[in-house]
Amino acid sequence: SVKVGLAQMLRGGVIMDVVTPEQARIAEEAGACAVMALERVPADIRAQGGVARMSDPGLIRDIKRAVTIPVMAKARIGHFVEAQILEAIGVDYVDESEVLTPADDAHHINKHNFRVPFVCGCRDLGEALRRVREGAAMIRTKGEAGTGNVVEAVRHIRSVMGDVRALRNMDDDEVFAYAKRIAAPYDLVMQTKQLGRLPVVQFAAGGVATPADAALMMQLGCDGVFVGSGIFKSGDPARRARAIVQAVTHYSDPEILADVSSGLGEAMVGINLSDPKVERYAARSE
Ligand code: PLP
Repeated sequence: SVKVGLAQMLRGGVIMDVVTPEQARIAEEAGACAVMALERVPADIRAQGGVARMSDPGLIRDIKRAVTIPVMAKARIGHFVEAQILEAIGVDYVDESEVLTPADDAHHINKHNFRVPFVCGCRDLGEALRRVREGAAMIRTKGEAGTGNVVEAVRHIRSVMGDVRALRNMDDDEVFAYAKRIAAPYDLVMQTKQLGRLPVVQFAAGGVATPADAALMMQLGCDGVFVGSGIFKSGDPARRARAIVQAVTHYSDPEILADVSSGLGEAMVGINLSDPKVERYAARSE
């Protein structure tokens, strides 16, 4: 479809969270393929607590005016009116995001009702293909946003990639039961088996803080990377943003990775995910 094709254009790129037009310009200058316009980055949503909602449309419009690259914005899971508003102001992609407080425990947005393409999060292949069936044009593995800790991002990518590998080696006759087991539509499971990958662009997200983290996501097989709190919660955002773009472009060249990783100053302060007080956004449902 047209929407899936639009998302394909982001391949090999870095999508950066920004909270001001100035940050958006820094991201564009650094080579970001898109920006995510927000009032608060996930690390601040965690720190401040409370209900996290769609950002002020006025701020999103200001950010749109500041850059020429595509602008994404987040709607709450199931909150199709927030998505209608984001479509009305002309955002290029809507992220139906678990980083915001979910609005519907049982239903995601029917994304077929929109012209704007959506990106949705997943932790495994079944979740990814349920979102694609609802009309998602792009998938991102969830990780744990705002933690600066890449361990959940790695878990979710390995889960999707491992499921796709197992599927590729499966007898066609076994796909019916497999689709039922992962609660995904048979036709999309079969299409994934034939393609040897998800039928839409698959980015990584949730905890990426360094160029090495970003290159790790790419070597694990992702098409690109979202960086949320990792850039503008670090010591030298412009430099780190450029370094992460370079790392995603040259992800399999350790010498370039060493170069771009040098002298970046302080990375964002991470969060220890074994602390039981740390909320898991990836699994949340009010
Ligand atoms: N992500 C979040 C944040 C949820 O609250 C839920 C459940 O309602 C899901 C994903 C899972 O949705 P599904 O099982 O339809 O993939």
